[in-house]
Amino acid sequence: MAVDSALSSPLGPPACEKDAKALQFIEETTRNADAVQQEVLAAILARNANTEYLKRFKLGGATDRTTFKSKLPVITYEDVQPEIQRIANGDRSPILSAHPISEFLTSSGTSAGERKLMPTIKEELDRRQLLYSLLMPVMNLYVPGLDKGKGLYFLFIKSETKTPGGLLARPVLTSYYKSDHFKTRPYDPYNVYTSPNEAILCPDSFQSMYTQMLCGLIERKQVLRLGAVFASGLLRAIRFLQLHWSQLSHDIRTGTLSPKITDPAIREYMAMVLKRDPELASFVSQECCKENWEGIITRIWPNTKYLDVIVTGAMAQYIPTLNYYSGGLPHACTMYASSECYFGLNLNPMCKPSEVSYTIMPNMAYFEFMEHGTGSEFTRDSPPKLVDLVDVEVGKEYELVITTYAGLYRYRVGDILRVTGFHNSAPQFHFVRRKNVLLSIDSDKTDEAELQNAVENASRLLADCNTSVVEYTSYADTKTIPGHYVIYWELLVKDASNPPSKEVLNRCCLEMEESLNSVYRQGRVSDHSIGPLEIRVVRNGTFEELMDYAISRGASINQYKVPRCVNFTPIMELLDSRVVSAHFSPSLPRWTPERRR
Ligand code: AMP
Repeated sequence: MAVDSALSSPLGPPACEKDAKALQFIEETTRNADAVQQEVLAAILARNANTEYLKRFKLGGATDRTTFKSKLPVITYEDVQPEIQRIANGDRSPILSAHPISEFLTSSGTSAGERKLMPTIKEELDRRQLLYSLLMPVMNLYVPGLDKGKGLYFLFIKSETKTPGGLLARPVLTSYYKSDHFKTRPYDPYNVYTSPNEAILCPDSFQSMYTQMLCGLIERKQVLRLGAVFASGLLRAIRFLQLHWSQLSHDIRTGTLSPKITDPAIREYMAMVLKRDPELASFVSQECCKENWEGIITRIWPNTKYLDVIVTGAMAQYIPTLNYYSGGLPHACTMYASSECYFGLNLNPMCKPSEVSYTIMPNMAYFEFMEHGTGSEFTRDSPPKLVDLVDVEVGKEYELVITTYAGLYRYRVGDILRVTGFHNSAPQFHFVRRKNVLLSIDSDKTDEAELQNAVENASRLLADCNTSVVEYTSYADTKTIPGHYVIYWELLVKDASNPPSKEVLNRCCLEMEESLNSVYRQGRVSDHSIGPLEIRVVRNGTFEELMDYAISRGASINQYKVPRCVNFTPIMELLDSRVVSAHFSPSLPRWTPERRR
């Protein structure tokens, strides 16, 4: 335990020598944030100087910030999509990056309904690994003894496809779990999982979850922390336990694995670890057959010290449910990352969710910050102001703009962050929100245009009965697991003798789902992380009442616009009290791993 005091860190006394090195790295990198940023930019520009993209902007070999900023435009995905498409189609020339693009990471952000394809290069895995390696040393500062037990983490791979040019396209975590960095990670007593690789790497989500849950139950007393990437994933695991505890308990009682688990690698692994344990089986059954599941997590895993899940951003909606199932265990939001790039970590991971700030690590990419929230639109004459990492101001909101080693230059990520302070000279950010996201249950992100398009498509089905949708709004209902989209419709039925039937309205639900982006549809079909979409028809005049309510609370009558998404309880109560009928999608929308375009 005692660590050489020369290695002691300003963050706190490290738990072991390895942690001391990690904390020292954080200290040095954040202390020299500006110099590190300058080096990162110079390295990216020097290495990629001969790429088609950089040559186009005539940098002339310059690697300094001033030239870079004066010559390169700030872009969005759509600006660079033609180059990305060429790479996807098989063009191997250095278009964006001098290093070969090794694969595409499929973002949960979409463009024209399909996941955005983020180029990546082999060495990015090392950079991601480096960030991961900093997480436990920080956690060990706050929670002692994590080497005395294990983590029950529900981790999954998702399906992957190949682009027309033969490059893999898959989510970043699938890429990471399938990499040697993860599969052959050296033993680290602070980072031992109950889930075997065989289960994490099983492409069948049922078999994967079943095995991970079974292993978690078998080792329930060793479990010191419980997690999933996002809060929605952990709740899905709890729901899985609700549905399958009886079979799980049977397996433990008899020491035999359910025949539903057919994956040979899992069966082989479980043959080694699954032993008859009637006492544990009775315990699981006793706890799970109770009506009341409040505090189930701490009842089954009594030594859990915290939940390791992201509950910031869109995931904050799950905090009350997590508290219910865990008896208020702390939530640790450890890192902030994306398919484009991993950004940083939370240096105070046991803080309250509302106080979470992520420290951006200056070695990960070159970061710029576009001022946000000034209210005025940017014009040619007053372009957006971008500042460097160390120049952001506490209290201000910015949109994150990145330049990566893999070849995204001055790329707008779409995340809005507020500066809360600094660690040394590296700023810390509260994640405010993702731009333009109206509805989100899991990793799906539905914007206003997508919702509008879905409503338009669905309402065409009403034409036969001479009915139209006069107003609508929406709500992400997370009271059930999985959560689902609720769309409130006010209808104009022009022929009272021929109102739309239940079947037609059910089909409208499905038509809306068909119109939503592929991340939504994958959540419905493959991940089972989103429940059937619901349309609640409200009585005529409801949206006028909604406006009256908003005006009574100070909204301007001239500027009032129907909110396309609601989550304020009195408004929900008003809408729900006016519901005349509710309809659900009768089947699953279409989804395959292949892209529609
Ligand atoms: P993806 O590209 O699908 O990997 O999603 C990345 C996005 O997820 C980020 O740009 C954020 O909008 C969101 N995200 C990632 N980490 C966090 C976090 N710790 N808190 C809130 N949102 C996050």
